[in-house]
Amino acid sequence: MPLTVTPIDATLGAVVTGVDLASLDDASWEEIHSAFLAYGVLVFPDQSLDEESQGAFARRFGRIERLSSRQTGGTVQFSNQKPDGTLMQPDEERYRILKGNEGWHTDSTYMPLAAKASMLMALVVPPKGGETEFADMRAGYDALNADTRRTLEGLSAYHSLYNSQARLGYRHTTDNLYGFHDKGAPLRPIIKTHPETGRKSIYTGRHAYGIPGMSAAESESLLDGLMAEACQPPRTYLHRWKVDDLAVWDNRCLMHRARPYNTDHPRVLRASRIAGEPESELAPTFADPRAAAFHPSSSNKSSLTAS
Ligand code: MN
Repeated sequence: MPLTVTPIDATLGAVVTGVDLASLDDASWEEIHSAFLAYGVLVFPDQSLDEESQGAFARRFGRIERLSSRQTGGTVQFSNQKPDGTLMQPDEERYRILKGNEGWHTDSTYMPLAAKASMLMALVVPPKGGETEFADMRAGYDALNADTRRTLEGLSAYHSLYNSQARLGYRHTTDNLYGFHDKGAPLRPIIKTHPETGRKSIYTGRHAYGIPGMSAAESESLLDGLMAEACQPPRTYLHRWKVDDLAVWDNRCLMHRARPYNTDHPRVLRASRIAGEPESELAPTFADPRAAAFHPSSSNKSSLTAS
């Protein structure tokens, strides 16, 4: 059966069949890469890749981003199940990270180098819920009126995992569990131009906050409003996982979020994350005084009361 790309009924997404990702030839890779740029997210059903094959496919997209200090290859498991088989409880840091993933975001924007692409393969799926939903921020940008586009063009926002977790009532601590950044917050333009396609998109998500030149409240309402408006059909695709599904998406123009599920059941996804290119995904990082409240390592405690 030839490689077939079937678009999903939305502004983003396609299902790719007729290919074995464990033995991918260069011609098929070229087709997949073009589809990746066009559709933003690709789903490959029935790929039972081992860690090595998944890592090799991820490396086709670029350099692997290290997500854990214990990570040696190209993959790491995202799971609510611990190595001893027991399930994580709500008071655990990793559980809170998984809960945080239920907010719209794009990966690693709180790090100096944001992610280019992310890949997940389903190993264990809960009986209900636990889907991954994607939103097309290119189409979100296209839907903005000219005035809003002009306003947004000049604006940037800080990105911080401390901030996004604090909004959920969690105080994030530095333990390098997730390899996050604790030196300050990257400042990123709200409108991003895709380095390969040239298309513009809204680049914010749950880690974004504190637009310079605006009050915290103004900034929050603008960012929340943008996301609420953009992440609506036909710009969204909800992927219901089946075991051995592999999905890969472009973090440079899509947002995504996990959907809730009953955490008395295990959900195990094997992740690979591909680092952004420094030319287009590296952001300057500042010790923004407003960020200090969320950064336990900050030495300038006096700035906490000033905001
Ligand atoms: Mn994510």
